[in-house]
Amino acid sequence: MIQIYTHAACLAHATGPGHAERPERLRTVIHALEAAHPDLDWQQAPQASRGQLLRVHDEHLLATVLESAPQGLLSIDADTTLSPHSAEAALRAAGAGVAAVDAVLGNRTRRAFCAVRPPGHHATADAAMGFCLFNNVAVAARHATDKHGLERVAILDFDVHHGNGTQQIFEQDPRVLYASSHQWPLFPDTGARNETGCGNIFNAPLPKGADGEAFRAAWHDELLPAVDAFRPQLLLVSAGFDGHRRDPLAGLLLDCADFVWLTHALVALAGHHADGRLVSTLEGGYDLDALAECAVAHVDTLRL
Ligand SMILES: [Zn+2]
Repeated sequence: MIQIYTHAACLAHATGPGHAERPERLRTVIHALEAAHPDLDWQQAPQASRGQLLRVHDEHLLATVLESAPQGLLSIDADTTLSPHSAEAALRAAGAGVAAVDAVLGNRTRRAFCAVRPPGHHATADAAMGFCLFNNVAVAARHATDKHGLERVAILDFDVHHGNGTQQIFEQDPRVLYASSHQWPLFPDTGARNETGCGNIFNAPLPKGADGEAFRAAWHDELLPAVDAFRPQLLLVSAGFDGHRRDPLAGLLLDCADFVWLTHALVALAGHHADGRLVSTLEGGYDLDALAECAVAHVDTLRL
């Protein structure tokens, strides 16, 4: 039982010619999911509310994203861009996770996948960066703790980049565990093993050229045992597929089967501790064919 959350506004967020984080990414994922599974339960992602965003972000960032209203492209930093439809896309991308958390905690579905953009895990409490405007998974996690009263929420991040924003937002919040594998060094150059927050942050950096064996070992030996010991009541996944060997932005050598292996493990953990409840949200992935193949395989595994 899985629901897929998306919205057309997420396709209208323009980033400029030649930008890696482009609308075609999401279009390809949606078409691949529709082709693979004509019977998927598609849901329209609502807009996150101000109150939901303010659990994570400050007023200044909300104003930057929501009130800039650019006529064309407006650069926030070297690789993060606002355009006329970006505000709604950011609200829908964050709102997808909130709605998905409500759905799994309300027993309307066991699992959900949020097919959204812009991605989120680099956005900090006070800054948009690294293609990310709002931190979608962080907004979902705070909704689970603050609205639903959960005491233990785990965020699992297998994007090839470290989720510096997610780590910063939760490093003093013991209700949320953050576990990440990522290529290091690589943008944003955080995620060293000794960054441990209040004992709730677990980083497994991998060197350029690391393959599926190293990736699986990091999760099997280090990250999954930490998550297991935490006994999360809900699992949230930052699902980035840019660790794939064909990805143009990074240098890991993962295959689709490695993402499937980890997804199986996360489903098992969710079953053990969280009544199967798991919400996954798309982060990176910049080779269109690899992204589509891996996203479909990820959703296939979440359906089990
Ligand atoms: Zn990434």
